[in-house]
Amino acid sequence: MPYLSTRGRAPPLKFDEVLLAGLASDGGLYVPAVWPRVSDRELRAMATLSYPEMATHLARPFLDGTIGDAEFAAMVRDAYKDFDRPDIVPLTPLGANEFLLELFHGPTLSFKDYALQLVARLLDHVLAKRGRRATIVVATSGDTGSAAIEACRGRAALDIVVLHPKGRISEVQRRQMTTVISPNVHNIAVEGTFDDCQNLVKGLFVDARLHKDAGLAAMNSINWARIVAQIVYYVRAAAAVDAPGVKLDARGQVAFAVPTGNFGNVYAAYAAKKIGLPVSQLMVGSNANDILTRFFETGEMKAVTVTPTLSPSMDIQVSSNFERYLFDLVDNRPDVVNGIMEQFRAHHAFRISSERIAKVRTSFEGFRLDDAATLAAMKKIHAENAVLVDPHTAIGIMAGRAKRRDPKVPLVAVATAHPAKFPDAVEKATGIRPALPDRLADLLQRPEHCEEIRWNLDALKDYIRSVAKVAA
Ligand SMILES: *Cc1c(COP(=O)(O)O)cnc(C)c1O
Repeated sequence: MPYLSTRGRAPPLKFDEVLLAGLASDGGLYVPAVWPRVSDRELRAMATLSYPEMATHLARPFLDGTIGDAEFAAMVRDAYKDFDRPDIVPLTPLGANEFLLELFHGPTLSFKDYALQLVARLLDHVLAKRGRRATIVVATSGDTGSAAIEACRGRAALDIVVLHPKGRISEVQRRQMTTVISPNVHNIAVEGTFDDCQNLVKGLFVDARLHKDAGLAAMNSINWARIVAQIVYYVRAAAAVDAPGVKLDARGQVAFAVPTGNFGNVYAAYAAKKIGLPVSQLMVGSNANDILTRFFETGEMKAVTVTPTLSPSMDIQVSSNFERYLFDLVDNRPDVVNGIMEQFRAHHAFRISSERIAKVRTSFEGFRLDDAATLAAMKKIHAENAVLVDPHTAIGIMAGRAKRRDPKVPLVAVATAHPAKFPDAVEKATGIRPALPDRLADLLQRPEHCEEIRWNLDALKDYIRSVAKVAA
């Protein structure tokens, strides 16, 4: 089962090659040529497995035989061994037939740990087998950087360089990166915005010579292996609501509400549906940066400038993973995807037909919440359900409550970050300052290490060459 580029002008690749490539050479994203299917019986049988066993079972058909079964199973066990809950993804009741899927029990307290812990091990394994090394370069507006650093620290075949906009991320987010002292971890505070960081990283990747010399690689949200890892918790959640005492409704369905930025997390829920999970609805929550919600409402995807919000991990202009869904929507026709993406490049906007938007709405619905409404939602959820949620999670819960069609179908809202990751917003909304989990309790006292220079692209290139341990 090879992978195809959504734009159809790059060679089909196997799983391990897709992992190393990131973006396809034609600018497209890799998707499976044929989706594996899991039967209802298999899904039910899987409910009794441990999380790592379930992950191993679900991911196997996506691996193309490029990684040995026993090796993969060991990597998965290792990836989740330090999560602070034995069930890895606790599902807690919230309201009536409504549940919270807690995806913040990994080392950096956001759902990104669930994918990146595994992806770093996969990369390390595939590179070591080829006798190669890679330099991972990441631009972050907060959560991705720390999750990538924790995943890569100490891995023999990887160096990681993370650029963050100086002074524009929260103290907890910064410290989760800069207090990791490891010879293969390099933090850079950029005098500028997140866009400046991203442009610097793009500038590195288009330098073919540097790309090769430093073995540049990405771990951003378009990485296909991240999607595979994220499918697992959706299947897990569906199995958990079907546990004795909490029955799936007669049609055996489940609905998910997901706070969304780059469309990676909710696309994984769609992928779970593609392989056979009975998903009735996917509700996408957005903040003031509501490009997706506007698209689901109008059929027009129109990029506008980014507004900073209380939920910074959803402050995006364009959702990079959307192209994967688009390819599926147009029946796997790269010519149609190319036409649409060409229009988007030229006009920062495209519109799809009314038949196509009707089809989109059979799977997705969007909902937006501005900052004031997000704070009110956090307060209400705390008052009524006695849980503290972070701003992203609150938006997801409210999307689910607003758009849910059938109260008999269990609604699973995805908690993408621990409330203590966004203590200022939580305190503003509820009057309570959430405490960090014990293992991070001394985070604010730990020493930090970070390069703080006014960076330009040439200086950054020199720096990358100095840290990359790849022989030129
Ligand atoms: C990254 C992130 C999101 C957005 O996820 P996407 O996969 O980009 O849609 C939402 N919430 C939190 C806390 C995040 O870190």
